[in-house]
Amino acid sequence: MIPFNKPHLTGEEFGYIQDAVNSGHLSGNGKYTRLCHAFFKERFGFGKCLLTTSCTDALEMAAILLDIKEGDEVIMPSYTFVSTANAFALRKARIVFVDSREDCPNMDESQIEALITKKTKAIVPVHYAGVACDMGAIMKLADKYGLFVVEDAAQAIDSYYVDPAGNKRALGSIGHLATFSFHETKNIISGEGGMLVINDPRFYERAEIIWEKGTNRSAFFRNEVNKYEWVDVGSSFLPSEIIASFLYAQLKALKVIQQQRQRIWNTYYNELKAWAMDHQIQLPIVPEYATNNAHLFYMVSNGEEQRDFIIKHLRNNGVLAIFHYISLHKSPFYSATGDVRVLKECEHYSDALIRLPLFYGLSKKELHHIVNSVRSVRL
Ligand SMILES: *Cc1c(COP(=O)(O)O)cnc(C)c1O
Repeated sequence: MIPFNKPHLTGEEFGYIQDAVNSGHLSGNGKYTRLCHAFFKERFGFGKCLLTTSCTDALEMAAILLDIKEGDEVIMPSYTFVSTANAFALRKARIVFVDSREDCPNMDESQIEALITKKTKAIVPVHYAGVACDMGAIMKLADKYGLFVVEDAAQAIDSYYVDPAGNKRALGSIGHLATFSFHETKNIISGEGGMLVINDPRFYERAEIIWEKGTNRSAFFRNEVNKYEWVDVGSSFLPSEIIASFLYAQLKALKVIQQQRQRIWNTYYNELKAWAMDHQIQLPIVPEYATNNAHLFYMVSNGEEQRDFIIKHLRNNGVLAIFHYISLHKSPFYSATGDVRVLKECEHYSDALIRLPLFYGLSKKELHHIVNSVRSVRL
């Protein structure tokens, strides 16, 4: 069976871990954490970076930083991973879901304004498959209504938004805050892992405090204060140096990893294009203002029945393809709020989208077996 995902090791991970262990500093916020932060700032122009133990944690930090409280409203797509919503639900916000675009699963920016009320505090765009949401339109709305924007860039490392003037801006550098994931299913991994990016300097100081259990420990280590104390709420959000050193090895290989994933993605696209056209299967569409970081390759079938049929055919051919996400607005937890709006596009992606295996170690032979298996489905 060709698996859906296989974590890729660059070979440098153990050397860096050994160095971290030998240095005697195993807890967080040491040399490798700083190297990772510096990498992201230099490479992508991010503001302040703070590694976290997951993207889920980074989203929870974002909700604390924005002082999200009961009664606040947060606008986000329904077609996303549960953590996007859960982080804000934990702080008792009301989650207001937006439908997806017709051409790609990202939130439909043209439907956001109608959902903004006096209680709206933030918009959380999710760059699905690493493809940018229309950040120009979203930031304009945020400015007009005084809202914060938190980019859920969990899947979006090394991907860009291209503004109308043609300037490329890295995803994660545009919103007031942004979150990344280094879970083993993402392009760059550390098993579990994540990062909060703070682009708005007003949040720099408090972010560090929340990161360090509500203390000013980071400032203390920089000799800015002479003792460290409990100054705010917070939690233990920082990963150990063992995780950070593993992640650093991966970051150093970012270019090679991305090239390999792009090759696989392009093969799928080129080899399946004609077949998809003949069978009314929709392949990914990357809007003109977005780039593709080859995080995942998906196909959109005509519905649940056809999706299940294709997945079963692939499984019979030794290929593990999977679907996701179950729309959050239809989840048992959210349904209890009584919001019964139909989000047509989002529900269609939940029913019809199929993801094919995409990982660094996928061989040419396996790739062609998958392509041939897809093309041999009798629809
Ligand atoms: C993977 C993912 C997350 C969660 O990341 P973790 O690091 O596993 O917590 C959140 N949002 C999106 C869109 C994701 O794809």
